[in-house]
Amino acid sequence: MQVVLDDYVWAAGVATDLVNTAPEVWHGEDQLPDLASLITFAELRSIPVKVRPGDLRAVHRLRATVRDLIDHPAQARLITEAGALTSAIGNVTLDVTSGRPRWTVSLRPGATAVDALSLICGVGILGVIQSLDVTRFRACGAPTCQGAFIDTTRPGRRRYCMPGLCGNRVNVANHRARKAAAPAAGGSVPAANGG
Ligand SMILES: [Zn+2]
Repeated sequence: MQVVLDDYVWAAGVATDLVNTAPEVWHGEDQLPDLASLITFAELRSIPVKVRPGDLRAVHRLRATVRDLIDHPAQARLITEAGALTSAIGNVTLDVTSGRPRWTVSLRPGATAVDALSLICGVGILGVIQSLDVTRFRACGAPTCQGAFIDTTRPGRRRYCMPGLCGNRVNVANHRARKAAAPAAGGSVPAANGG
């Protein structure tokens, strides 16, 4: 089992996707509730995995760890703890079989989903620190959302954990607020705040 390492943008994206499966982001509904959902999560991101029964709890722990790192992005701690996520894994090598040479890690025999995801999250976090900086670890800008993300965009102005979802929610809320604030035809809006 091999994991390609030279795309920290992809890896940071997997880390972001993983933290945003957490129940607190979905009003209590875990988006990785069982092994089948974990397998789907990995397959959708082309992560080659063996999934074992204990992996689900381990991935939930990993998810909490990564979330904590995004929420408290002190550089020294990010480097130490993201490095630790990659420690149990295997041998780094250069894969030259597919045209452009790529850094890869051959996962040790018996490695499972949590090993692969730990490695990917660790590499994503370290890559962002190397190529960008710690201001890229952020909470979602939507007022009602508990999500978080790692911003790997070039300008670094990403605001939402799930732009298609949270960004749209904010747009809809702003639109409603503007409509509500506009004076109704033929009537006045009573002032609600009496001081
Ligand atoms: Zn969000």
